[in-house]
Amino acid sequence: MEEKKTPTRGEELRKALSYDKKNGYDRLLSGEREAMEDYCAAYKEFLDAGKTERECVDRAVALAENAGFRPYVRGNGLKPGDKVYRVNRDKSLMLAVIGQKSLAEGVRICAAHIDSPRLDLKQNPLYETDELAFFKTHYYGGIRKYQWVTIPLELHGVVALKNGGVVRVSVGNGEGDPLFTIDDLLPHLGAEQSRKPLGEAIPGENLNILVGSRPLADDEGKDRVKLSVLELLNRKYGIVEEDFISAELCAVPAFRACDIGFDRSMIGAYGHDDRVCAYASLAAILQLSQPEHTAVCVLADKEEIGSEGVTGMKSAAFDTFMEDLCAGQNVPLRVCYERSFCLSADVTAAYDPNFADVYEKRNSALVNGGVGLCKYTGSRGKSGASDASAELVAYVRKVLDENGVIWQMAELGKVDAGGGGTVAMFMAERNIDTLDAGVPVLSMHAPFETVGKLDCYMTFKGMKAVYERL
Ligand code: MN
Ligand code: MN
Repeated sequence: MEEKKTPTRGEELRKALSYDKKNGYDRLLSGEREAMEDYCAAYKEFLDAGKTERECVDRAVALAENAGFRPYVRGNGLKPGDKVYRVNRDKSLMLAVIGQKSLAEGVRICAAHIDSPRLDLKQNPLYETDELAFFKTHYYGGIRKYQWVTIPLELHGVVALKNGGVVRVSVGNGEGDPLFTIDDLLPHLGAEQSRKPLGEAIPGENLNILVGSRPLADDEGKDRVKLSVLELLNRKYGIVEEDFISAELCAVPAFRACDIGFDRSMIGAYGHDDRVCAYASLAAILQLSQPEHTAVCVLADKEEIGSEGVTGMKSAAFDTFMEDLCAGQNVPLRVCYERSFCLSADVTAAYDPNFADVYEKRNSALVNGGVGLCKYTGSRGKSGASDASAELVAYVRKVLDENGVIWQMAELGKVDAGGGGTVAMFMAERNIDTLDAGVPVLSMHAPFETVGKLDCYMTFKGMKAVYERL
């Protein structure tokens, strides 16, 4: 038999006093691996079905309807256990499960966003030059332009017609669909381009998508390639060139979500930011039956361009939804807000050893470290951050610990290296206590981003704990 060694005083102190950040896999409960894999498989399906905010709303509504949620009808009474939702202009979604306590006791909100960086077509996009046809684009959100050339692209969106009809477009996601791409210089002729700073090598006006090359047959006129493309679009969608003016068409990377690594421990995909948190908050609210506090899930649009606009988190659409719920229980909205809590569920930067100099490792989120809590975001002295209170962080870490959620603290890069914001400040402005939390992402905002499966699952578990236990 092995003799049991008495721990030294140093060992005892270390155990009692030091904060030890163990890898999540060393802390995962036995039997959790399978639940994690099942969860991630469903998440990958969600990603493949939703390449734009509109498609994410469609998919989320289908899942919610399946789970017993119904559109909320203004003026209808609400009782504990009722599951309701409201779609805002096809681009954002709010869901609620009515709790046993009155709305005067506040609600538990998880707010994520479903818009992702991409290339939007301009309103007059189609042109022909030198017998090739292209779409002009204006990028949406913070992209590194050099990453978006020479990759396969899909086209998703809507064309709204003058007669009130709306044509849905989805090219590239279906079996046998063609794809699109943006060309770049060959290295043989790229010497001068290579000398430019990374941010200037591909100007925004050069992000022109190649959409055709075959000229219209038996015709002597000009722009025969463009005309041939227009003919195809007209045949398939019934649209004419002028209809692009009232269209929202987005070029998105044509990558399907897949496992990354020999050990399949990560997921590579387009749009983890922030569908990875959106799916977690959705999946968590769909599993609720009778929470103590009313649970609210927000899948917002326009976060990537500052939460502006009628479908962004600044919009009164959220307040209107909440006010309608409160009216059902004769509770003033402000009373509900001041006792509410919001988890601003958005991704954070994962520490990347290949670019270690922009991180401060002690305070960075690591892949497989669990859901990353962010006390503050912002940049240059926390500017633009909501900065959650110490008391709030204490309460959240207690709840996460009690519910077996693996979590870590996160900071988006080292001081003055850059920064970023989330919807947190817009929730906090409503007098709602708010804390940022989300999945650490490698290559954030790239056409193909990578996350750890463990962190995805722990974010889901964290959201569930917020809804059920906070
Ligand atoms: Mn985000
Ligand atoms: Mn983002």
